[in-house]
Amino acid sequence: MEKIQNYIGGKLCEPQSGNYLDNYNPATGAVYSLIPDSDKSDVDKAVIAAKNAFPAWAALSSEKRMGFLMAIADKIEENLEDLALAESKDNGKPLWLSKAVDIPRAASNFRFYATAIMHDKTDCFDMGEVAINYTIRKPIGVAGCISPWNLPLYLFTWKIAPALATGNCVVAKPSEVTPMTAYLLSKICTEVGLPDGVLNIVHGLGHKVGATITEHPEIPVISFTGGTSTGQQIARVAAPMFKKMSLELGGKNPNIIFADCDFDDALSTTKRSSFANQGQICLCGSRIFVERPIYEKFRDAFVAQTKKMVVGHPLDEKAKLGAVVSKDHMEKVLSYVELAKEEGGTVLVGGKRVILDGEYANGYYLEPTIIEGLPFNCRTNQEEIFGPVVTIMPFDTEEEVLGYANSTKYGLSSTVWTSNLKRAHRMAGNLDSGIVWINTWLLRDLRTPFGGVKQSGVGREGGFEALHFFTEPKNVCIKL
Ligand code: NDP
Repeated sequence: MEKIQNYIGGKLCEPQSGNYLDNYNPATGAVYSLIPDSDKSDVDKAVIAAKNAFPAWAALSSEKRMGFLMAIADKIEENLEDLALAESKDNGKPLWLSKAVDIPRAASNFRFYATAIMHDKTDCFDMGEVAINYTIRKPIGVAGCISPWNLPLYLFTWKIAPALATGNCVVAKPSEVTPMTAYLLSKICTEVGLPDGVLNIVHGLGHKVGATITEHPEIPVISFTGGTSTGQQIARVAAPMFKKMSLELGGKNPNIIFADCDFDDALSTTKRSSFANQGQICLCGSRIFVERPIYEKFRDAFVAQTKKMVVGHPLDEKAKLGAVVSKDHMEKVLSYVELAKEEGGTVLVGGKRVILDGEYANGYYLEPTIIEGLPFNCRTNQEEIFGPVVTIMPFDTEEEVLGYANSTKYGLSSTVWTSNLKRAHRMAGNLDSGIVWINTWLLRDLRTPFGGVKQSGVGREGGFEALHFFTEPKNVCIKL
């Protein structure tokens, strides 16, 4: 059975303890590889390697760093088929999705930040004949990057690329649930000759490896994407140490559909925003609010189309939904369907586990699920489910739906469907979220600020926001 290895100081290596954890294929429910069960000693080794590599990496010209990152992007593209297959096997998502989204985006992340550093600039504050100020930005040192399982390589590289581009060295931990593509990335880094210790990948459990990265005194900056409660634990440890933190956390995003929308576009996009990646995208619109004049028409069409969505194994080209990531997660999602029923909801479609044939019979498959008849403030409508489960309810006024939309502790993204430009602009201004999509969903420009408000996070990723996050400004004032 394949043994995933840590990547420390440029070498693939066993965990110091020699212990490994099982890695499951969610499509079959079977263990198919082993993950290092790393601990503090591995993180310490990685931090030493990163610290040693830092002075030379930080001193490299932007062009040279760009060259390494572009080479990594090229190799990801060259290996797209293998990486996509590995991602789908590890995560359960359809292969067509890994090929179309996850792996191309990982290459784009490296390419985007490789070129971004060539266009970055710093400020100058001219005090006339008195003085001139200029601000330089320096890399911080060793950055800790911790990522989740839903978009494994996509989100892992979204952190690593800006950290490396700006001259930091990195100690990174992918989710223990989906470690495979991070492991393959470490091999790519070796192939392109990334200097030893610039990127270090330590696999293992959150409460061991993740917690050690968080509390490590030699790691002054933490970029984390994951659940809100894990983010709170990280903040509790890192804030008193005055670490710089970027926390991208959970969401419970509203999808607001006005009667004057482009009905067909809203319908087909809502299918995607509800069930893409088995609903396991932090940006999925899990609460659907439809203006009353079109409520029944929209609901019935949405239910009818959802019934036709095929749930299948990742290699099944007809499958719109693959497996959810783990048995625990499947059980958590199903428990929310039960909760919704207890809270008075009606399951219009779905709600059950799907059992496939043959080797896939023990995989973790769920039906896409739509629930109606719940109040906006019940637990089902307030807590993040992070699976293929959405609720739908009617509304009458803009004010009313804003109240529903803004009622949760989260504030990551919102979607609004309307052909009324003034209303779109008004809604965008009044929605409590870091991202608002009007008449679209998940249309991404990597230059834009990405992140949430309230308990969806602290700080922003994307574009110059990330370049600034991974650097410290230093102002120099010269008296003339
Ligand atoms: P978790 O918070 O459980 O885990 C995220 C990462 O943190 C994993 O690598 C995990 O390791 C690690 N971790 C766990 N405990 C600790 C700890 N005490 N200290 C440091 N690190 C720790 O999230 P999930 O992996 O379950 O991902 C799903 C969540 O991520 C959802 O809430 C989703 O909304 C959110 N998310 C947010 C996004 C955003 O941009 N805002 C984007 C994508 C997802 P291990 O896997 O070993 O537990």
